[in-house]
Amino acid sequence: MRHRMLFVFAAAAAACSHPAGTASPVSPASPSAAPSTGGDADLVARARAIHSRVITIDTHKDIPDNFATAAADPKTMPSQVNLDKMKAGGYDMAFFAVYVGQGARTDSGDAVAKQRAMTKFTAIHRMAEQMYPNLIEIAYTPEDVIRIHNSGKLIAGIGIENGWVIGHDLSLIKTYYDLGARYMTLAHTSNNNICDSSTDPKGPEWHGLSPFGKQVVAEMNRVGMMVDVSHVSKECMMQATALSTSPVIGSHSSTTAIANVPRNMDDEMLAAIKRNNGVMQTVAFTGYVKVQPAVRDTAVRKLNEEFFGPAPARGGGGGRGNQRASLAPEKLAEYDRRMAEIETRWPSANVQDFVNHIDHAVKVAGIDHVGISSDFDGGGGVKGWNGADETFNVTLELVRRGYSEDDIRKLWGGNVLRVMGENQKRAKTRA
Ligand SMILES: [Zn+2]
Repeated sequence: MRHRMLFVFAAAAAACSHPAGTASPVSPASPSAAPSTGGDADLVARARAIHSRVITIDTHKDIPDNFATAAADPKTMPSQVNLDKMKAGGYDMAFFAVYVGQGARTDSGDAVAKQRAMTKFTAIHRMAEQMYPNLIEIAYTPEDVIRIHNSGKLIAGIGIENGWVIGHDLSLIKTYYDLGARYMTLAHTSNNNICDSSTDPKGPEWHGLSPFGKQVVAEMNRVGMMVDVSHVSKECMMQATALSTSPVIGSHSSTTAIANVPRNMDDEMLAAIKRNNGVMQTVAFTGYVKVQPAVRDTAVRKLNEEFFGPAPARGGGGGRGNQRASLAPEKLAEYDRRMAEIETRWPSANVQDFVNHIDHAVKVAGIDHVGISSDFDGGGGVKGWNGADETFNVTLELVRRGYSEDDIRKLWGGNVLRVMGENQKRAKTRA
């Protein structure tokens, strides 16, 4: 996914790094899938009306460590999501991710994780409360979401990606909740103290949840924070979903039936989400939407190395962002031409491929248990939905497939608000 940074000029740390060599970059030379209006002007008009009426919620959008500073202005920064693009695209709400990449599981490592999490919480609050209070507001409840939307402002939710940020301290769950976090992904790409990751090359450490992880789920239920079962191993996902007394969220995952990668959910997992009354937020991350042959990844990597040198280390934070801009025009043209050749031969995932996952998830789990996420600025994006400004294309494709306005309202946020509200209601009952 590192290479994606070249195309989106994002400065975000790679929250959702694909295992090395399996990323499937979207070519800048490939045309964005603009809505084809040929002969279906009525359908497009209907889709536009629906898009303007529903609240669109993306449950996973990454931010860089320097977010909400002069160097990374939330309104205009050249990333897939900024406030201007949100407004332009009818992209009403994002869960801004407090993502911290896994480091040493020691006392000092845990302290660093907490500090890095706090930096991102502070940045999100700075955006909404100091920099742009007239444009965006943080929502703490589903009622807030509706109220803020009705006021004409954009909406910020907060989700934590990687339970490592609590270290061994259960009390931090309430601390982060009070700062606005409404979900926490139990683990990221490596195993941690809570549970196993779906992508740790070392394999399972706990075979699901650790004893501490079971306490974490109970404490999240008590506090009212959604348990996020994306990124974790199937064993962990099934155990956490069975154990949780509140509905769970898979904040950004797609389906193995269509793209068989460890980050996605199989039908058994989708059925478990349904039983639990939870929701899976289908992710528009090209590598999880469409599995590409290894030969394509090799071709992309070689091309990038030829023009830009070896890829920077994972999790380093968009070190290549300016390299593309630094190429001489004729070199850049050659790079784009050769990338276009790769794209023609092995097209990257588009909105239709993405909606195929939504269709499958709806078929297995039902319309009440599926939602939408992008992983923008963390490696996400497909052709046609490669930024907040292109959000209408998703609604248009859903209308084309025959989803009703009610269905689309559920997919675009109704379901996740139900799950969020249910977590809070149950927490109150328990208090
Ligand atoms: Zn992720």
